[in-house]
Amino acid sequence: MSQPFLPFALPEIGDEEIAEVVDTLKSGWVTTGPKAKRFEQAFTEFLGDPSLESIAVNSATAGLHLALEALGIGPGDEVITTTHTFTATAEVVRYLGADVKLVDIDPATLNIDPQAVEAAITPRTRCIMPVHYAGLAADMPALLAIARKHGLKVVEDAAHALPTTVGGRLVGTLQSDATVFSFYANKTITTGEGGMLVTRDPELAKRAKVMRLHGMNRDAFDRFTAKVPSWYYEIVAPGFKYNLTDIAAALGLQQLKRAHAFQRKRAELAARYDEALSGLPLVLPPQPAEGDVHSWHLYVVRLADGAAVSRDVFIEKLFAAGIGCSVHYIPLHQHPYWRDRYGLSPEQFPRSQHAYERMVSLPLYTRMTGADVERVAAAAREALRG
Ligand SMILES: *Cc1c(COP(=O)(O)O)cnc(C)c1O
Repeated sequence: MSQPFLPFALPEIGDEEIAEVVDTLKSGWVTTGPKAKRFEQAFTEFLGDPSLESIAVNSATAGLHLALEALGIGPGDEVITTTHTFTATAEVVRYLGADVKLVDIDPATLNIDPQAVEAAITPRTRCIMPVHYAGLAADMPALLAIARKHGLKVVEDAAHALPTTVGGRLVGTLQSDATVFSFYANKTITTGEGGMLVTRDPELAKRAKVMRLHGMNRDAFDRFTAKVPSWYYEIVAPGFKYNLTDIAAALGLQQLKRAHAFQRKRAELAARYDEALSGLPLVLPPQPAEGDVHSWHLYVVRLADGAAVSRDVFIEKLFAAGIGCSVHYIPLHQHPYWRDRYGLSPEQFPRSQHAYERMVSLPLYTRMTGADVERVAAAAREALRG
């Protein structure tokens, strides 16, 4: 009998999450309110630095948009990011009418290459957006040094990076201007859809909170609970609708409590993959620096040069064996919009292109067992026979 399909990703939602959501549903307050506030406080506590402010939003995309907006990025400005990311990282720059400068990756880590960043700086450059690819921290000491030297802002796309450390410090607590986490369904913790904007800049926080809710100077919960008449507010800007609901925040409150345990489980499964796949014609994922934490959002292997099958055939064979895989990412320079907008070609990004043509993300999530990993490894071994 064939085994059941092993999906590429699955969230882990327990009884505590369900009870917390039910509590919210019964409370009479379902949109942004007490639980969103508690989730923000819990997030700052999780990061362990009370000088940070955590601002809950309905997606990481929204958080990235708010961060850049609050930094005043606009027409005429350039923002540098990696071509090897999801389009959300770059699209928010275009929302604001600014331009995206895509750069290549470091082939060892698949993260943005600081040297390529420095080479791409022009008089119009305002900001660098590193992505902690797969949950392995980008070279933040180098990137922050470049930003300081050239007077640039730094907004980290930390959609993969909860929890991830650099030099022993959690991503979110570094000296960048803002860091944005994602709680999309397949991320390391989930609220269905959701995100968190973290900053130590009080002005940025103030602007982001106003723009998160229509450019209103008082949110609905504040008006509902305040001791002054609740109907009055002022619109100070044409803002957005980016607030996180209490239903989602209820999920987040319980998921956050499990973030470290989830990371340990993912790291165990990744180590088991490393062992089970060793000796095959695969480039295994890079490891974090000694003492650092990799969130292991993704487990990305690359077919070695000279492997008996192509990446596409490898994925088909795993699918035929009942195993879901994915590719992170089709680099932005290959997508029609980015390619045509900026006249990009693969030759400009040889390392990202090389990695893309060979890469496969294998299933990795907390509900997997060691036996699931062995099954994937066995199917990979079989597929690589050609
Ligand atoms: C998931 C993801 C995003 C967007 O997150 P949402 O919460 O879905 O908006 C942004 N950047 C990267 C690298 C991602 O993987």
